[in-house]
Amino acid sequence: MIKKQICIALLALTVYPVVQATQETKAYICKGPKSTKYHYSKNCRGLNRCSTHIYKTTESEAKRAGRTLCGWED
Ligand SMILES: [Zn+2]
Repeated sequence: MIKKQICIALLALTVYPVVQATQETKAYICKGPKSTKYHYSKNCRGLNRCSTHIYKTTESEAKRAGRTLCGWED
């Protein structure tokens, strides 16, 4: 029983860094014609003014689309 727990603990330690590396920072973008920013928070002040749909994406994806970080973010 104890042996099995150690085994699981070791497995968790091995898998953890891999999960960390592949976990992308989430970002939100407004797909309005004047939108050029991405946001970390869905409730951001910049996103509140969005007149069209808000899309969930990743930070790297937003940057690839030419977006820059919103000025309201910390
Ligand atoms: Zn923002």
